[in-house]
Amino acid sequence: MDIHIRVPEPLVAASNGRLREVEPHAYGTRTYHWHLSNPINVYNVALNIASYRIIEGSLKSVAGDTFPIQFFVLPEDYEKGVVLFEEIKDHLRFYEDILGPYPFRADKYGVAQTPHLGMEHQTIIAYGAGFSNTAMTRGNDLGFDALHHHELAHEWWGNLVTNADWSDMWLHEGFGSYMQPLYRERLSGVDSYKEAMMQQRRGIANRKALSPDSTLSSQEIYAGHDIYSKGSWLLHTLRYLVGDDLFFDILRRQAYPDPAMESVIDGSQVRFGTTTDFISLAEGIADQDLGWFFDVYARQPHLPQLDVIRDGSTATLRWDVPGTDLPFSMPLDIDIDGRRQRVDMQNGIATVDVGEASEILIDPDNWILREGNLKQSESN
Ligand SMILES: [Zn+2]
Repeated sequence: MDIHIRVPEPLVAASNGRLREVEPHAYGTRTYHWHLSNPINVYNVALNIASYRIIEGSLKSVAGDTFPIQFFVLPEDYEKGVVLFEEIKDHLRFYEDILGPYPFRADKYGVAQTPHLGMEHQTIIAYGAGFSNTAMTRGNDLGFDALHHHELAHEWWGNLVTNADWSDMWLHEGFGSYMQPLYRERLSGVDSYKEAMMQQRRGIANRKALSPDSTLSSQEIYAGHDIYSKGSWLLHTLRYLVGDDLFFDILRRQAYPDPAMESVIDGSQVRFGTTTDFISLAEGIADQDLGWFFDVYARQPHLPQLDVIRDGSTATLRWDVPGTDLPFSMPLDIDIDGRRQRVDMQNGIATVDVGEASEILIDPDNWILREGNLKQSESN
């Protein structure tokens, strides 16, 4: 796509792709010519026009090539922009490390300051957080600019891999929302990660299926389908179920199904994805059936609950998915008087010898999305 925008000086027109030229005209006007070499979702085409100053740099990709970075800031915010620019580069390094190369290296990575909060416009992210870490997180400071971090996630989850239908929208927003706790884990450790997950847990409503097995409109999917926090928690629980090695392999292969695609920059690296595709990919990498997992978490709204019945020295644990007869075989950690063990829940049930234990904690680290996470985190 070629985008030509003529503006009066000193206005600057920031848009998608790479700047080909700025053509001067009479009467103090000039034309910005942007050229986008990769495919784009139409909602990502954006014009940002202001008296911007431009902070520029570049990053060497894990793929080996180097791509330009441009941050268009308002003149009065230039100093803050210089500081945030270094953080922006660290966000990029983090994503490249876990998901593979920044997908649009043939064009650029760009950020433009905007009056609205944010949007994942490909190669020209809208940034309206006002240099505040808490603009997107209801006052919780995660220790970094969460709004920029979230919008940047969409260059992989949304712009590289685009949902085929609105019912698959959690592939953008759930995956995008899971990246902020992961980055927090890298900056400050696993306890910080869990704290960030519990903040997201409070926002899950469970009124409608995360990804119903039918097509939806955009209005429908945003009305109560939990595509942000529940999608993020689904990934959190999947990580527990399959373990870190397989989980991070699943994430990276969801971005680039074939490792050879990580070096492609001509536009053929982008693709459409469905929830069903993701289930197949995860099952293939984990080498196990995960249909029961996604049936419960993605295809219907009710959370599983664990019933615990103590009878003398034994405890019987049983999963139940209210309102359904869906099987649920999620293993879980329990602490019996401070001793940790992982209980296999074949067919959703297990009997555990607890002796004279006075204290039994179920899933003490809150890995499993279920009824009771919030109660437990309060009592902990
Ligand atoms: Zn988003």
